[in-house]
Amino acid sequence: MRTSDQDGVLLYAFTCGYITLPMSFFLDGEPGKAKVPACVFLIDHPKGLVLFDSGFSDRFIGMEKGLGKIVDMPAGETVSDKLRGLDIDPAQIDYVINSHLHIDHAGGNRLIPDATIISQSSEWDYGMAGEDTAYAIEDFDTGQPVQRITGELDLFDDGTVIIFPTAGHTPGHQSVQVKTATGLAILAGDCCNMRRSLDEMHLPDHCFNVDQYRGSLEKLSKIRRAGAQIFYGHDPDFWAMIPQSESLNLNRIGEPK
Ligand SMILES: [Zn+2]
Repeated sequence: MRTSDQDGVLLYAFTCGYITLPMSFFLDGEPGKAKVPACVFLIDHPKGLVLFDSGFSDRFIGMEKGLGKIVDMPAGETVSDKLRGLDIDPAQIDYVINSHLHIDHAGGNRLIPDATIISQSSEWDYGMAGEDTAYAIEDFDTGQPVQRITGELDLFDDGTVIIFPTAGHTPGHQSVQVKTATGLAILAGDCCNMRRSLDEMHLPDHCFNVDQYRGSLEKLSKIRRAGAQIFYGHDPDFWAMIPQSESLNLNRIGEPK
């Protein structure tokens, strides 16, 4: 953890469950299946602790039927378990930024009792409509205050944590740019599933809005060319290179440029 405010903004990554889906779900036309991680990030800013996404709910632990056939949520790996592993009480978290409200991104919201949830307004409304089975209202609407935003938000007003819209996967998908001492990180979420999504401008076989999705990928591509480190939403090979539960040094990630 930080030793002083001079450390700047620290970034931590951890996995909170897995889901197995057809590969085409991530990259259109690809054969086979992929078991992919639910990626969660902790942003440690001098003015507050922030989560980007919260992984799968603990309700999936031991579930064998229904969604339990494709979701693997090991005991001891919920977002609150991972935080405690860093000596952080989940009640210390000030904000949860949900990239979107699908079950693999907002399932742990319930376990973060005193945070404000930050969602694009359009995403919240769409999820609350209850018509799309990728959402579970019981997972994401768990009583905390919700800060609904439209467009960009500079969370601490200092340019270090900037939330920006990346619609297409869902109506109100959002990503976060984090300025750390070792470089610029983009926590993409599902607007960019894998490194190949960007390398090849390769869309998934389905999305809420294809034109918006392509626009979001193009936005990320430009940011990557400028030198930022993109954290792809569901890339098992990329994720295997990321040290878990320790302060990340972006210079040591070793992604081929
Ligand atoms: Zn996802």
